[in-house]
Amino acid sequence: MIRANKHFKKLQSSYLFYNIAMRVNAFQKANPTAKIIRLGIGDVTQPLPPVCIEAFHKAADEQSAPETFRGYGPSEGYAFLREVVAGIDFRSRGANIDPDEIFISDGSKCDCGNFQELFSTDSIAAIPDPVYPVYLDTNVMAGRTGVYKEGRYEGVVYLPCTAENRFIPSLPDQTVDLIYLCSPNNPTGSVMDRENLNRWVSFARESQALILFDAAYADFIREDDLPRSIFEIEGAQEVAVEFRSFSKMAGFTGTRCAYTVVPKACMAYDENGDAISVRDLWMRRQTTKFNGVSYPVQRAAEAAFSERGRDQVRGLTDYYLENAKIVRMAMAELGFETAGGVNSPYIWINTGQDDWSFFDRLLQKASVVTTPGSGFGNNGVGFIRISAFNSRENVITAMERISQIA
Ligand SMILES: *Cc1c(COP(=O)(O)O)cnc(C)c1O
Repeated sequence: MIRANKHFKKLQSSYLFYNIAMRVNAFQKANPTAKIIRLGIGDVTQPLPPVCIEAFHKAADEQSAPETFRGYGPSEGYAFLREVVAGIDFRSRGANIDPDEIFISDGSKCDCGNFQELFSTDSIAAIPDPVYPVYLDTNVMAGRTGVYKEGRYEGVVYLPCTAENRFIPSLPDQTVDLIYLCSPNNPTGSVMDRENLNRWVSFARESQALILFDAAYADFIREDDLPRSIFEIEGAQEVAVEFRSFSKMAGFTGTRCAYTVVPKACMAYDENGDAISVRDLWMRRQTTKFNGVSYPVQRAAEAAFSERGRDQVRGLTDYYLENAKIVRMAMAELGFETAGGVNSPYIWINTGQDDWSFFDRLLQKASVVTTPGSGFGNNGVGFIRISAFNSRENVITAMERISQIA
């Protein structure tokens, strides 16, 4: 008899986006003329930069001629892309990362979801609360947690991110093995500074733990003294892996390209305490289960690093950051405590009330869709996340409407 993976039964159905969609649909049905503005989901709205489109077209044409046709590529990605990534995202910022430590993939969601399978099931995971739900759910699926009780899975070490710690996770008071950090954070928009990262890197080194650092929003960082990569921190290469994505920075959410940095110095340990290269494990995993990202997509991603590409990407992120500023200022003006929105496209707002009630009020009275914070973890109760991913016009209109009803 084929038996199902019993750990899937522990998963809490993600009612969040389903529930939001239900409420939005009901509202639209009852108010057919209402012009709904969606500042809820974390998907970009601006098209790909023109340089990426040009490179994409050109690479598609190469596939039409026998001389330039390419079949299976290396599963860790083409050298042309790994080289520009290492040079521009790391070496130019003082992080000593080699091209062969870069693994190109079709998304950071899969990479952060898949990476945990390299480690023993009895590893203890530390996961921020609130945070992007992928980290928690993939550990549940892998059987790394107990059952769900009162908003918590047994066996997970939750790292509360609250106004008291300015939404930056504090060190746990027990040892852990696998540490998830997300900076700039989804959903709180907070960014870890050098001191925060130093503390986590030292902690991981002392306990021979591994940090999985999700920097999907690194290109939204504008303050120069903030690190964009954990590898700008000394000693991180032995204890950290970093996830980056073209999705939010260059509009690749539907085109799909990302990369993961796994330094050669990064180690896990066997039952005798002997070191094993995490990079070798990931290489083995990827060559077995993954066949690489399509050639035209990798050419489009490469183009984002050209001089024109970097200007255009900067233009895109600037555009969303200006939206974020408009949201942040408008909500602050209305007297709400806000976090994020400076080096991040997300603004995290303390509503001072039940987050679903507040969500409903914004929907009913202003026709604006946001995301209730409780969907990201227990510490999100009472907060909403507003996303800057929309047109300038819609963001301004949404804030005018909210100002009129608040
Ligand atoms: C959007 C997002 C990702 C990446 O998404 P992909 O499109 O799969 O590359 C990763 N982490 C966080 C926190 C995100 O919000």
